[in-house]
Amino acid sequence: MRNQTSKIALSFDVEDWYHTPAITGSSFSLYPSVNNFFENWKGEYDCMSDGFNFLIGLLEKHNIRATFFIVADIIDRYPHIVQALKNSNHEIACHSLHHTSAIDAKTKKSFQTPAIWEKELIQAKEKIESTFGIKVTGYRAPAAYFGKWMVKLLEKNGFQYDSSIAFNSIYNKTDVTLKNIPSSSYLINSENLSDRNADSMLVELPWSYLKTGPFILPGGGAFFYRALGNSYFNILLKQCLRKGDTMFYIHPLDFSNTDIPLKNNIARPMYWINKGDKTRKMFEKFLIHHKEKITTCGEVYSRFENKK
Ligand SMILES: [Zn+2]
Repeated sequence: MRNQTSKIALSFDVEDWYHTPAITGSSFSLYPSVNNFFENWKGEYDCMSDGFNFLIGLLEKHNIRATFFIVADIIDRYPHIVQALKNSNHEIACHSLHHTSAIDAKTKKSFQTPAIWEKELIQAKEKIESTFGIKVTGYRAPAAYFGKWMVKLLEKNGFQYDSSIAFNSIYNKTDVTLKNIPSSSYLINSENLSDRNADSMLVELPWSYLKTGPFILPGGGAFFYRALGNSYFNILLKQCLRKGDTMFYIHPLDFSNTDIPLKNNIARPMYWINKGDKTRKMFEKFLIHHKEKITTCGEVYSRFENKK
């Protein structure tokens, strides 16, 4: 039965090209950390601002409120983005301190120790809270690398919801075998990240996906959105919305027409397919099509709490 009232939590991960795992903060990155990148990088670094400026204007034009998951170190280098968000009514959430991948992509073991990860989480939360004068309650793991040990640490540090779990047949970026993860909000089990026998108060807002036969195809947004477009996502979101509230995300960087430096050195040059104008045009149609269902992650969290 179609659930007419289901909502889409619309979210944006505010990070630049050098935050991606190919460039910094992962076991396979060109530079070990963002700090190391800035010690060595002498060229222009800002590829995000023109995409952000487009996005913030587009949301205002269509009177849409969304959630911005912020990498805290952008506060130091992009004062105009901070100011634009302060002037807006959008929800602000946390996307880590430096966008370091906490899980090793290949081994699925911790790339950051839980102690270092927690220290950076606290620094990021405090930095965002003091900058924006708000309480941060939402988290998204960089590149969606999510360790089961994060659940209790997020809860301990005052987070009410996470939005990192991507369930599909193509990839798994967690340190557990994911089984039957819903596409709508659930209380999370810290042993297997499922919705069975929850042992925490942390609510997961999982990524959308498309179930077709035995396969689960990825949703979420960003790369898959740029590559597969509105037709695919409209079908996928319709299916998810039948089951309950779901989530869509993209980056300001996806709307940017600025060329990414070092493009040929990134292991996956095809990754940036349709970046800029093509995605801008597609996304405005997406907003118009889904406008009545779009809300923030915080609102989707509250809807879940109120139903309990
Ligand atoms: Zn990210």
